[in-house]
Amino acid sequence: MSDMWQMAKAFYADWRRYGKDAKKHEVWIRKHARNRGWSVNPRWMIYTNLKLWIADSEAMYGRRYCPCYEPSDDAELNRRLICPCQFAQEEIDTTGWCHCTLFGRGDLTAADYKRAEDQLMAEYRGTPLNLTGGVLDTRDQHMDVLRGLPVPDAIHQVKRAIGAVGLPLVVIVATRTEALHLERLAELRSMRSEVAEVEDAWRVTLS
Ligand code: SF4
Repeated sequence: MSDMWQMAKAFYADWRRYGKDAKKHEVWIRKHARNRGWSVNPRWMIYTNLKLWIADSEAMYGRRYCPCYEPSDDAELNRRLICPCQFAQEEIDTTGWCHCTLFGRGDLTAADYKRAEDQLMAEYRGTPLNLTGGVLDTRDQHMDVLRGLPVPDAIHQVKRAIGAVGLPLVVIVATRTEALHLERLAELRSMRSEVAEVEDAWRVTLS
């Protein structure tokens, strides 16, 4: 299945799940941007997706964590990841937009946001998955310098792999926390999950 088709399918599935929540997020996003003198991504598709992904993050983890990052074992870091995160101002000052492209400098144009979005998509979909024979190894990804977290995280890789090859899927993750997150994803998406500790990693079978 092509990347475009996978993204469209995921969009409609998320819309069915979280469409109502997206409206709730609209309110604080606009208010926060006004208070900080930031702009909000004016591109409808990515902006709608970002609101849906925030709603998904809330359903997954119980907090409004950054839609681009999976929370870790570090409670203090997780607190800083709640959107609008504590990294956003530094990113807006240096590159013009926050990592996920939800917020940007006040003078950013739609064309600037398009450029930002292209970079974001290259980061999350431009690199090949480490997927062989139905086994996805999510470890050893590029680390985001500011947060010290992998990009893309295990959850993003798993969603992409399911879109590409379907189920069953065996997933190797580095930490127990990531394994628990996959169990939660399975619960939310009506999948079955089996978790096992293997040598220095965790193996989660999704079916
Ligand atoms: S990077 Fe942007 S979208 Fe992600 S948490 Fe920070 S402010 Fe929110």
